[in-house]
Amino acid sequence: MKIEFCGAAQTVTGSQHLLSVGDKRVLLDCGLFQGRREEANRINREFIFDPASVDSVILSHAHIDHSGNLPSLVKRGFKGMIFATPPTRDLCAIMLADSASIQFKDATHLAKHKGQNIEPLYTAEDVAETMSRFVTIPYHYEFEPVEGVNATFYDAGHLLGSAITSVHATHRGKTSRICFTGDVGRYNRPVLADPECPPDEFDVILTESTYGGRSHETEHDLEGKLLEIINHTIERHGKLIIPAFSVGRTQEIVYYLNNLANKERLPNIPIYVDSPLAISATHVFRLHPECYDSETRLLMLSDPIPFDFKGLHYVREVAESKRINAMKRPCVIIAGSGMCESGRVLHHLMHNVGKRNTTVLFLGFNAEHTLGRRLADGMKKVRIMGDEYIVRAHIEKLSGLSAHADHGELLAFLDKFKRTADQRIFLVHGELSAQEAFKSALKDTGRPFVENPAKGTVVEL
Ligand SMILES: [Zn+2]
Repeated sequence: MKIEFCGAAQTVTGSQHLLSVGDKRVLLDCGLFQGRREEANRINREFIFDPASVDSVILSHAHIDHSGNLPSLVKRGFKGMIFATPPTRDLCAIMLADSASIQFKDATHLAKHKGQNIEPLYTAEDVAETMSRFVTIPYHYEFEPVEGVNATFYDAGHLLGSAITSVHATHRGKTSRICFTGDVGRYNRPVLADPECPPDEFDVILTESTYGGRSHETEHDLEGKLLEIINHTIERHGKLIIPAFSVGRTQEIVYYLNNLANKERLPNIPIYVDSPLAISATHVFRLHPECYDSETRLLMLSDPIPFDFKGLHYVREVAESKRINAMKRPCVIIAGSGMCESGRVLHHLMHNVGKRNTTVLFLGFNAEHTLGRRLADGMKKVRIMGDEYIVRAHIEKLSGLSAHADHGELLAFLDKFKRTADQRIFLVHGELSAQEAFKSALKDTGRPFVENPAKGTVVEL
């Protein structure tokens, strides 16, 4: 029995870990590596194992860095089933289709403007074939992805449907108990339930380590701050642009605005969610109230649809998106992408970033070298789709919306696990420096066997 670390090893994206039990192979996640174009292209096309040799996949959640390379796996010969929770399957249906469409547009753009012929990683047909392989398993139901392996999903509280997987693998009379945390969410977040700790005793834990050594700032009155920013926007007679990830973050911010509307504190201002993907994702959120936390379920007794309120408009058509730009009255525009790298938010920024009455509100982390980072850092000149713009807009930030447990939260979460004398912990899904910080913190809590394997490392169990 062995585990091979095939992706998100000493880095954050491209989650893939291959569990071999006798001659059976189960892949934990099949994520897309995200980084500089050429490197990503190479890594995402070349698996370090033969896809045809994998018997089944267990998928922790729908984020693209965990699910986004499944269509490549299928295209390159994988014939098995993909096990995931029902919301994960439903989110994958829209997110993988969106990913295929982005790749098609990128390839077309590169061919037209740079004369480069790059085949998209996968197509809509590959996504359709991939979706036909899904088998959905709710939380707390045991399933058998291959003979000799029993698994159970627990709620990870990170994204709708996100799962922590408990795996019991038996070969030649010996059983290994393995936990794969996937991405771990946070306690007391809106909409989603808190992360659950599986009740088993584990020999091996594969845990994410994204925020090792770092803490999130806490925003105590998020609704109040949001309301203040909206009121300032109205006073300035301008537009409030909120770049937001379409899946998860957009639903969270709509939920906060819905709360303000229910309390009759939200001023009379039109609010637009301008993203087809966010609209589809919100439908999936509405289909799965079984994943909500108790506060949201309680709220639904008086407000059955917490993602809709008077004054909120979901915009799917391009023509309507353009009409918002021509509007003179103050409004709020929530649009993707969250880091302003692509999507309709770019058009809203082009039209408004140079105006003194515009406000741009950032809700989370912006990676280096992104337009979101440049704006959030207060740069006075930025390039948007090749043209230079002077920034006169007010820049605001609201922290405290991260979907990942930070250093202290992850330590507290792992502290809930039953300990065994020779329990081994493998850190995945983290940059090297974050992993080193988290490793030493774990060792300080009396866990001697903590490792952060590099890509390609094989560990015998
Ligand atoms: Zn995630």
